[in-house]
Amino acid sequence: MAQFQRPTLCCCRKVLTVPSKSCEGGQGLGQCRLVDIASASNFHCFKLRHFHLDLRLNFAVKEITGWQVLELVAIQPGVQTLVLDTHPSLLIQSIDCKVPGTTGAQDISPSLIYRVDPFTDYGSSLNISLPAYVIRPHRAFQITVRYTTTDGPAIWWLDAELTCGQTRPLVFTQGHSVCNRSFFPCFDTPAVKSTYTATVRVPEGVTVLMSASRSAYSKQDRVFQFSMEYPVPAYLVALVAGDLQHVDIGPRSRVWAEPCVLTCAVSKLGGSVERWLNVAEDLFGPYVWGRYDIVFLPPSFPIVAMENPCLTFIISSILESREFLLIDVIHEIAHGWFGNAVTNATWEEMWLSEGLATYAQRRITTEAYGEAFTCLETVFRLDALHRQMRLLGDNNPVSKLQVKFEPGINPSSLMNLFTYEKGFCFVSYLSQLCGNVKRFDSFLRAYIEQFKFSSVVAQDLLDFFLCFFPELKESCVAQREGLEFERWLNACGPPLCEPDLSAGGVLTGPVQRLCDLWASEPPDPEAIANFNLSSWSTFQTVLFLDRLLDRSPLSHEVMGQLSRCYSAQLDEMNAEVRIRWLQIVVRNSFYPDLPRIRGFLHKHTSRMYTVPLYEDLCSGVMKCFAAEVFYQTQARLHPNLRRTLQQILFQTSALSTPTGSVPSLLHPTPSSPSPTPRDQLGPADPPTTGTIALRDVNVSA
Ligand SMILES: [Zn+2]
Repeated sequence: MAQFQRPTLCCCRKVLTVPSKSCEGGQGLGQCRLVDIASASNFHCFKLRHFHLDLRLNFAVKEITGWQVLELVAIQPGVQTLVLDTHPSLLIQSIDCKVPGTTGAQDISPSLIYRVDPFTDYGSSLNISLPAYVIRPHRAFQITVRYTTTDGPAIWWLDAELTCGQTRPLVFTQGHSVCNRSFFPCFDTPAVKSTYTATVRVPEGVTVLMSASRSAYSKQDRVFQFSMEYPVPAYLVALVAGDLQHVDIGPRSRVWAEPCVLTCAVSKLGGSVERWLNVAEDLFGPYVWGRYDIVFLPPSFPIVAMENPCLTFIISSILESREFLLIDVIHEIAHGWFGNAVTNATWEEMWLSEGLATYAQRRITTEAYGEAFTCLETVFRLDALHRQMRLLGDNNPVSKLQVKFEPGINPSSLMNLFTYEKGFCFVSYLSQLCGNVKRFDSFLRAYIEQFKFSSVVAQDLLDFFLCFFPELKESCVAQREGLEFERWLNACGPPLCEPDLSAGGVLTGPVQRLCDLWASEPPDPEAIANFNLSSWSTFQTVLFLDRLLDRSPLSHEVMGQLSRCYSAQLDEMNAEVRIRWLQIVVRNSFYPDLPRIRGFLHKHTSRMYTVPLYEDLCSGVMKCFAAEVFYQTQARLHPNLRRTLQQILFQTSALSTPTGSVPSLLHPTPSSPSPTPRDQLGPADPPTTGTIALRDVNVSA
């Protein structure tokens, strides 16, 4: 394993930023060592121009078979080996090489010698020996890898029973952060972008979608063809195939879903998506991806949503929680600019995508729904950030924006609320520095224009910021005491400052007043009766319940009163509200409401709702109850989730306690059989074992 040097400290930082231009000749970037990719020693020696996937999906045996053609150019002389990232679940049959435009023997595709070496628990290293005649600087060549891949971390096969319609199987992929090396061999780093095309063959009745800007279908051959015309990193290549239908909901948008979900999905989103896109374009410049489609996936989708370009993946379970659906979709739209067009070059600076996307999401909601709504949503998330902070302690290195990790670490384990919310606070601080939110909007437009389709490090953003506002550079804002940019990036602990959220007072005020009433001894029923939860928004209700949860343990009397006041009413509300009440029930061992938990867990089979409840149940005195419900419902759970819950049920006595320690996310986690979800919730098999209860980390994609 290569030694690790922080790319941000390398002299080649600009090379990393614009590899397609400056990397020619291989100056500098070779000094960088990215610890999460086997191809780190090597990817700068080649320019990946394009790749093509030709795949056949076989649902009966849960296999993807086919080949991949990589179009490469050697940009350094004397390189004899091409190293790609791959995974043990991906079996290679043969590798050939071709140099287009050459004649004679060189036009034949000779089989190449290759070797697969262990790398980490989330991947292997594919070393391909290149014939001498290939390695001429600046000359293009093609490598064809024939392979079969099964159920590696990127690929989720769902039997028909696990889909919403329960009639046909479905498969989807989830590449973030480092899973797609089990889908196709690649330079699995966000620093490398390329265009791609794909041909996918499927059985009759199956529709295939990919994160591509163009698609076509030949009914006769049952072949789907895709083309992504804009360069994307490997983790943004995504595929879903199943019984999917669509309805157009705007000039560039359609909703895809299983037939039984489609009507509901369209009714919840119709009309809104184009409006949000228009608001975003006004703020940040043109939407560069052409289409913006959304596909709703069954509850087995391991996260809430994923910003696959041109085609957001989102879990259908979120449909019942309207405000969360709205925030999640707007967040994914924001990634069209921040994360997808301009990407963090290393996973250590994931905040560059998530912090900026969260800021952009809130600019969009401010324009579309007003400042009070946006502040309420922000207060709710920052509450969660502070909760996570209390669990982690002030000095936990995961609270840094620039995280540094050791070899073997899975970058997905770095996903946490700091990535989103501390990142958001830093971006808000930059916005505050320039004195006017509109001026900052124009800076962000220029930033996108400058860096679109490339990958950047934090220094690029900050240098560009200071160039854009020379008066700020002159006044040395980067070194302002206590608020130094360097401290923002590298200090542990909470954000150095938070934005002014007083505009949300009209919505958060009543929530706090009701919380205070419940905290007084004894609670005054008459005063409490003046507050009507059913007139509140979802975010007000979840803020109220989260703050009650923070005050647990509550006395049995108070729990009884709370239950009489709210339990039946909350039962009628959406899952985001209900799970919070049920967590209060569990953490306070309030047995009268146990049937409600059973009912909830029989209905909801997604990771985002089951894992936090099982963790709470198992860390308290309700483990037997949890086991009973698990045995009743396990047939309807995805095997990966079943494994996670089994771990929680049978291994958690020392692991998952509400006040237990949180393992460092900077060190390798034990081998995980399940894929890595995205954008929230932590890895599918949480490195967490618990206590950053996934609720606490439930920031939306
Ligand atoms: Zn996100």
